[in-house]
Amino acid sequence: MLRSEDGAHWARVSAPRRLGTTLPLCHLARAHFLFTTIMQTKRCSSCLSGAWGNRSTIGKSCDIAGDFLMFIGHFGIGFGAKSVAPGVSLGSLFLAAQFIDLLWPTLLLLGFERVRIAPGATHVTPLVFEHYPISHSLLAVLFWALLVGGLYYYIRRERIGAAVLGVLVASHWALDAIVHRPDLPIFPGSSLMIGLNLWSSLPLTLVIEVSLFVIGVWLYIRTTTPIDSIGKWGLWGLILFLLVIYAGNLFGSPPPSSTAIAWVGQLQWLLVLWGYWIDKHRSRQT
Ligand SMILES: [Zn+2]
Repeated sequence: MLRSEDGAHWARVSAPRRLGTTLPLCHLARAHFLFTTIMQTKRCSSCLSGAWGNRSTIGKSCDIAGDFLMFIGHFGIGFGAKSVAPGVSLGSLFLAAQFIDLLWPTLLLLGFERVRIAPGATHVTPLVFEHYPISHSLLAVLFWALLVGGLYYYIRRERIGAAVLGVLVASHWALDAIVHRPDLPIFPGSSLMIGLNLWSSLPLTLVIEVSLFVIGVWLYIRTTTPIDSIGKWGLWGLILFLLVIYAGNLFGSPPPSSTAIAWVGQLQWLLVLWGYWIDKHRSRQT
């Protein structure tokens, strides 16, 4: 009953009859948000059908997973940095590694930056980053790196932690420069754009991102030990959640609008909080 060749099954099955309406499924899904993201990623056959080019319309019910723009390589680097700066919470490491992607949704909503959705633009993401000088130009990122590292040093007086956080902020740009098309400006207003376009290959992207993630998680697990069940299962829950969302990014249908991306993108702050929460329930390996 869940299956149908045209993908309409999802709407028929999921739209509760008691509502007495034919609401498009994506609206219902938005109400259920993260939980629905996972369920859609698992159950919607059209989500699993292949490259961006042929997922254009039938997968409307799978939109949320695609809206949650998140690339796990950055989180992998955040996890791994714990081995260099064990005194810094995983939440702070995530905050730094994802800092410019955490700023970006707000800048989109404020109209300072722009993204366009073009299915097929790359093999990995349908997003065309048209203008993002404040969050993603090299010069701005160096400023953000100094700011994050400097603030941490001001608050904690801890040099290694501050340096690691600053490097993490900059590492985001470096990793983006490997995978993005040439769309990363050197400075706001610059016409020179950087990007090695690894996203032109889905297998290569997967190898790099998943490897970074696995190595990072391994380093984190090697550096810390759970002090209770939250420290253990909270971590595995986070790992699974990140992988499911990443799969939704890669194999879900394109997001409906840049505004949707921006709002769903704000949920990344919850991942930062999740990092702080887990880290409180784990201690350093001795
Ligand atoms: Zn980015």
